[in-house]
Amino acid sequence: MAPQREWFEKDYYSVLGVSSTATPKEITRAYRKLARELHPDANPGDAAAEERFKEVSAAYDVVGDETKRAEYDEVRRMGPMPGAGFGGPGGFGGPGGATFDFEGADLGDLLGGLFGGGGRRGHRNRSRGPQRGADLESEYHASFRDAFAGFETSLHLTSDAACSTCRGSGSKPGTAPVPCGQCGGRGVLDDNQGMFSFSSPCPSCAGAGQVITDPCSDCRGTGVTKRNREVKVRIPAGVADGQRIRLKGRGAAGRNGGPAGDLYVIVHVAPDAVFGRDGRNLTLSVPISFTEAALGTDLTVPTLDGKAVTLRIPAGTPSGKVFRVKGRGVASAKSTGDLLVTVQVSVPAKLTDEQREALESLATTLPSAPREHLGVA
Ligand SMILES: [Zn+2]
Ligand SMILES: [Zn+2]
Repeated sequence: MAPQREWFEKDYYSVLGVSSTATPKEITRAYRKLARELHPDANPGDAAAEERFKEVSAAYDVVGDETKRAEYDEVRRMGPMPGAGFGGPGGFGGPGGATFDFEGADLGDLLGGLFGGGGRRGHRNRSRGPQRGADLESEYHASFRDAFAGFETSLHLTSDAACSTCRGSGSKPGTAPVPCGQCGGRGVLDDNQGMFSFSSPCPSCAGAGQVITDPCSDCRGTGVTKRNREVKVRIPAGVADGQRIRLKGRGAAGRNGGPAGDLYVIVHVAPDAVFGRDGRNLTLSVPISFTEAALGTDLTVPTLDGKAVTLRIPAGTPSGKVFRVKGRGVASAKSTGDLLVTVQVSVPAKLTDEQREALESLATTLPSAPREHLGVA
């Protein structure tokens, strides 16, 4: 359900006689009590009670529902709906109490930053109150080594900004919008059907109540232009492939003194030919020969921070054994990862006659059945 204009005007908490911090249980209890008292069956012919009953039901419909209540609270937090164009006498929510749903058109603009969408912006947007800027999303392709060390880069973004020529009004400088002739500046048209009065947005001015006769040529009357921005971002060390980094306040500029939205950067990390990543640890696979594994050796391996390190591989090291080099993984304020070196015994694909003879003579001295425990040798 889209937020409704009523939400700006009605304090559903006071309708139910609870505080805005009431628990769901307290709200339900208050609603049941009022609903019992005010129910039309209990008050035959009492129009005032019936009206109250409707109000209480409408209030509970919103604040009795966890999701709607959260949206309602957000809407209320933003203050009253300003919109001079909408507030004509006898406008929305007039007698008959029909609820008008904006279908997200204008409230979508106002709430765009809150509920995800960028929101449409245009001459219909007459809000004077502070509006939070839209959240923006950008992607960045980083090399493995940049992601390891952290880096600073500049992102080039295009986002909405108030047109500087008309200061966002949409009217050519020196001209002003005129009240809409079809709705008389109210922005809505009433359609009386028996006892109910339905309001719908005026098609001529799209609900703004006024029309721009001399549109600004730079923004074609929308009041909004796209502007290129360069945003410097600092990506911390150890960013993982696909990670979404939130840069608070680096999104689109807010309106009328509202805060800027956030910028989300999705980082794609290219794989490295030598190193792998496992969380904050770096991984490295190093081939060693059978004789190195059997006799032991000193193994010099590269690291990502420049200095190579030498590992002592003891005699009798099995293939697949992992050696840990402390503190040579991804650095962070909390803890630094390690470099995990896995040795893989490599087997020569071809042998010279001499090597073959040496190995055959070695084989005669080795245990004849290393697989005895399988019981099938
Ligand atoms: Zn303009
Ligand atoms: Zn109109």
